[in-house]
Amino acid sequence: MAEFLRKRLHLFVLLWLGVALMVGIQWAMSEYQRIQEDFDRSARLAHGVIARKLDQNESVLAALDALLMTRQKFDMPVLKAFSHQILSHYPQLYTVEFFQNVTRDNRQAFLDEMQQRFGATFFIRDFDIVGRRSWVPAPVRDQHLVVTMIEPDIPAASSVYGFDVLHEPRFAAEMHKAIESGHKLASAPFDLYEGGRVYLLMQPVFLGQNGTAGLAGRGQLVGVVALVVYCEKLLSISPAEGVPAELDLSILSADSSSSIFNARGKHADAGHWFPALSRLELSLPLVSESQPFVLRVGKDVLLSDFKLGGLLLREGLILSLVISLWLIYSQRQAMKRAQSQADEAIFLQSERAAVTLNAVHDGVITLDPQQKIEMANPMALTLLGMSREEVIGQPFLNVFRLIGELSAELAEDPVSECYRAAHTVELPERMQLATAKGHVRLVEGAIAPLFSRNGSLTGVVCALRDMGPVRQRAAEALEASELRVKEHLEKLSHVARLHTMGEMASGIAHEVNQPLTAISNYCQASLQLLEFGEDSRPQVESALRLAVAQADRAGEIIKRLRALVSKRAMEIRLIDLNQVVGNCMFLAEYDLKERGIEMVQLLSVYPMAVMADSIQMEQVVLNLLSNAMDALRDEPVMKRHIIIHTRREGKKAILEVRDTGRGISPESLEVLFHPFFSTKQNGMGLGLSICQTIVEQYGGLICAENIPASGACFRIELPLSQTVTTPVQEPSAS
Ligand code: ADP
Repeated sequence: MAEFLRKRLHLFVLLWLGVALMVGIQWAMSEYQRIQEDFDRSARLAHGVIARKLDQNESVLAALDALLMTRQKFDMPVLKAFSHQILSHYPQLYTVEFFQNVTRDNRQAFLDEMQQRFGATFFIRDFDIVGRRSWVPAPVRDQHLVVTMIEPDIPAASSVYGFDVLHEPRFAAEMHKAIESGHKLASAPFDLYEGGRVYLLMQPVFLGQNGTAGLAGRGQLVGVVALVVYCEKLLSISPAEGVPAELDLSILSADSSSSIFNARGKHADAGHWFPALSRLELSLPLVSESQPFVLRVGKDVLLSDFKLGGLLLREGLILSLVISLWLIYSQRQAMKRAQSQADEAIFLQSERAAVTLNAVHDGVITLDPQQKIEMANPMALTLLGMSREEVIGQPFLNVFRLIGELSAELAEDPVSECYRAAHTVELPERMQLATAKGHVRLVEGAIAPLFSRNGSLTGVVCALRDMGPVRQRAAEALEASELRVKEHLEKLSHVARLHTMGEMASGIAHEVNQPLTAISNYCQASLQLLEFGEDSRPQVESALRLAVAQADRAGEIIKRLRALVSKRAMEIRLIDLNQVVGNCMFLAEYDLKERGIEMVQLLSVYPMAVMADSIQMEQVVLNLLSNAMDALRDEPVMKRHIIIHTRREGKKAILEVRDTGRGISPESLEVLFHPFFSTKQNGMGLGLSICQTIVEQYGGLICAENIPASGACFRIELPLSQTVTTPVQEPSAS
């Protein structure tokens, strides 16, 4: 990412450079245009100032001319005073000079007059002979124009008095032209000896009798009045005029062919570290009657003329714009990256969810807010027995319904309940999924609501599990465990029976021994009868019969003992509880007698038919009898009673064994049927626990209570079998 941004950074730098260059060019062009416009405006301003000065020159000369005309004579003091006054107003005017016309005829008179004015040394002179500032007396010519007045009266200029300007090669041509035309005329420029470049603006002065001017009607040529115009001052413009000082100003001749004067701008001579970029020039004609010059304005365009502030501002703006763009771009890239990471995370999560949904054995169906199916995983499709196309987008009620197995239909469909209550609805037991195709399956699971971020319900998720296979497995497991319990019970009962037999062993041995003794006695009596005579045959027969009866009885006892101690498979059949009691009495009889216990049997006259294994039930009764006998051990002989009572109560067969012992303590009552609870020294504490298991496996129950002022009472309840209903004749007591 950083590499990517670095690459893009180059792009932005290039973009910035490109835009900066374009803006720079555009700025330079507009700046150049501005400089041009400024230059143009300044040039025209300068033109206006100089044109005004030229006009002033013209006006001054016209005023002088007018003054001379009105005075009708060359009035020196007036002329001087006037000149002196105007020169102070117009700095471009160097001097005002008057050249007097001297002809061959009035030469002498003139010289006399001048000698009177200036002294005996006055000459008409020629100046600047062969380039030297020296003079020679001028030869006598037909006409001279002689310098006779210079204002201001510069002492250094006094040597110029007498100078015949009409024969000065630099002025002669223009002088002649002016005199001939009678109009003002500017001479060619020339350099002053004392420095500076000037030109003459000449006005021939004619004085006639009526003082009118004009070639035809004009009077006699008096001379020429000339303004010496200082070119430099002509071109110097005060800053107050608003003309920039750096302009190069030149005055050219009217046809622009020759330069009269050049005034370099303020910065022209200053050395620049950077060469001039270009040069601007403009030639503007100076429309003056006698000074038809052309003003040429020039300017070097320098780097400093460009106002860099604007460029810097623009470039700064562009830079900040590009930086902003870069930041926005970086931000967007970062956002895109975060977005793509989030997308990736969402994708991974949805993939995980999809894989999980495909892998789970629960059917998962999601419904939208309109109760239409949005998604169903493969297991859900298997449960529904339909294809994806058949269910997606369908209202769920068109595809499946959840119906209670027991009640025909629930008061409210669990899915609708979830939509209404917006909380998870656990499916009640034995819920059936009925599909549109008629399949019905037992399912369990839950319906859970789906919420959006703002907490509004966006649908529900149904998680359904097919309970068919689970139930099958549970039933099989239950059957197997029941079988194991049965086997264990059989083993345990067997052990308990052996234990009970062990406890009753002496009684049983006596029981078996009694018939054997009787048989032995009957046999001996028979033998003695046979020794004493033949008449004893009937007695012998009787004794032998009695012996056989005793042998049968012994056989019966052994048969019962064998049944009790043998390991045999349980045989549940219809038995009579009274019969069970009878069989037990047969085995317990001796012990009861031995212990001096009175046994009372209150047996029902009705058959107490129950479905059970007879040996197991005998075991139960024997155990209760054995415990009752133990409970009476410490009781006085007169108070040793056991009552066995059988009766019917509704559909139940009741068997109670009561004794007259001390009863059971309240603490023992609570744990009486727990395995290994015993208060006896050699007790195993298994008897009652096994009795309970045996009774409960036939759907019955066993409980114990204390009879007030008597002893303990153990009560067994078993469901009566409906098949035998006729009463059975049984003795009620023995
Ligand atoms: P065991 O006889 O080996 O002790 P049982 O499970 O048969 O085991 O009896 C548990 C206990 O219940 C006896 O130890 C005795 O304390 C009490 N019990 C049973 N029958 C009676 C009875 N008829 N009177 C008083 N206590 C009894």
